[in-house]
Amino acid sequence: MYISQRWRKKIGIVFPLVYLICNLVLVPQIAPYFGRTQLPVFKSSLKPQNIIYPLCFRNYVDKKLYNSLQQSIIHLSHLGIEIAYLDANFPFIDGFPLFPHLSHNDGKKIDIAFMYLENNNKTDQKPSFMGYGAYVKDINPTAQQCKEKGYWQYGITKYLSPDKDNTIQLDKENTKTLIQELLYRSKNSKIFIEPYLKKELALSKYDNIRFHGCQAVRHDDHIHFEIK
Ligand SMILES: [Zn+2]
Repeated sequence: MYISQRWRKKIGIVFPLVYLICNLVLVPQIAPYFGRTQLPVFKSSLKPQNIIYPLCFRNYVDKKLYNSLQQSIIHLSHLGIEIAYLDANFPFIDGFPLFPHLSHNDGKKIDIAFMYLENNNKTDQKPSFMGYGAYVKDINPTAQQCKEKGYWQYGITKYLSPDKDNTIQLDKENTKTLIQELLYRSKNSKIFIEPYLKKELALSKYDNIRFHGCQAVRHDDHIHFEIK
């Protein structure tokens, strides 16, 4: 089918416009009928690490998780901590996974960036553009074991971080505060991080901070938080 130059130009303007209207206006209005709420997109203490997440409809959670995050942020912002979210869930249909996260399929899961220091000062910057793949340590014992067992995908997210900024270091104190606050607001919630980080952040007493297993990917670049 031949499409004239004039029509191609028109489609080139209309399609992005319709997409943006769906993304920013229509879907956020419809999602609550499916039990999902859109997380803030612009200026907020709870915001996406990268605009790609909201643009790809990957920033929806259920009402309970939404309220829990909002409560957490009220307390955390007094401490100068902002939540930068990564992948959450799609706006519709329970059971439809947010590839590649097979478990992010019911509105109850969200990935959150760690807190970081730049020249020993607190910063909003993260060591990678997308928030994934900039591991705290390049080599860690669990990653090694998973690789030896044949789980080749365990470290695959490193390819999402070709831009890793080594001048930005993990802010242990504020990452720990962020994790504790998330767990405090939602009883029966769970967090996945790498076992060595659980130890280094002095969080060993928390049974609900767990190892996710070798079938997942490394969690020393972000926090996986889920509620019941
Ligand atoms: Zn996750």
